[in-house]
Amino acid sequence: MEAFDSFKKELSSPKRIFITTHVKPDADALGSSLGLANYLIKKGHEVTVVTPTDYPSFLTWMKGNEFVLDFSKKDDQKQAIIALEKADIIFCLDFSVLQRVNELGEMIRKSKAYIVNIDHHQDPEDFAQFRFWSTKAAATCELIYELIVKLGDKDLVDKEIAECLYAGIMTDTGGFRHPNTTKNVHLIVAELIDHGANGSQIANWIYDSNSVNRLKFIGFAITRRLVVREDIHTAYFVISKKDLKKYQSQTGDTEGLVNYALSLDGIKLAALFSEREDGIKISFRSSSEVAINKFAASYFDGGGHKNAAGGKSTLSLKDTVEKFEKLVEECQQELFETAIAEAH
Ligand code: 5GP
Ligand code: MN
Repeated sequence: MEAFDSFKKELSSPKRIFITTHVKPDADALGSSLGLANYLIKKGHEVTVVTPTDYPSFLTWMKGNEFVLDFSKKDDQKQAIIALEKADIIFCLDFSVLQRVNELGEMIRKSKAYIVNIDHHQDPEDFAQFRFWSTKAAATCELIYELIVKLGDKDLVDKEIAECLYAGIMTDTGGFRHPNTTKNVHLIVAELIDHGANGSQIANWIYDSNSVNRLKFIGFAITRRLVVREDIHTAYFVISKKDLKKYQSQTGDTEGLVNYALSLDGIKLAALFSEREDGIKISFRSSSEVAINKFAASYFDGGGHKNAAGGKSTLSLKDTVEKFEKLVEECQQELFETAIAEAH
């Protein structure tokens, strides 16, 4: 039997379903999880959505948000483990390696449930019975919509499901600006609008809900914490624990900051180093011709997409930045010149 048929069969009777996504979920991670959850509930399944950590407050408008369990909170974790043990089907959304869900990853690996992976990141690990995966998709939300259509349930997509999916596609395409904004993206988004999603309302919920502290923090970061190295086409932010504390930084407050560095004329590689409780979190962005995910994977225990990737470091903030600068200096040819040659 073809993989899709066996997956469809799995869903043909009411099941206990566990949905999870990557740490610090973004709009695509949470939107795909709740978009799928709302659909599966309509189909008569019992659904639990678990995130490995918390997520930004500008995502809490999504339908089903109040039922999401945060695995980093003790009480939620207990409920999540019960749901995981009972699950018939586990959906892993918007990540390709189990390490991206912290300790939940090993529990999922050991589970006897039917595992489904829906994702658009590079180099997927082989942990699922059914994988609906394409790096050509701009967002996991795009894949969720395609899957619902493939299951013959397009008519079940209501306003709330459409809103969740629209949000992920909007943010993962950088507001329909990145090179991943394909014709297919526009066609699907047009259908989501037909199903009731209001694009400008969703953009407002996500992009126009800043706190004064966050805006001041962005101003501070740009004026005091931005390093520009025009000679190596690179600009980056270095944010310490103390900086985050001073501006009472909330989850999601550094989101998008790295893009200011990339927006500089002549800059092809941007990074954001932020000092967190568990080490240094790194965000990388690159211009369309530079593949930064390989760099993130090779040197900073990370990965992601060609032009938007992430990683981590257990060195100090200062040493991490030094390591980064040195590597970029050494990898000039690999990073930029091959890319320039390819572009011509
Ligand atoms: P962001 O900079 O927005 O946190 O992440 C950019 C992209 O890189 C996202 O697609 C995200 O899933 C991926 N990413 C971020 N951090 C990591 C990481 O530590 N490991 C891997 N494999 N991917 C990451
Ligand atoms: Mn995504």
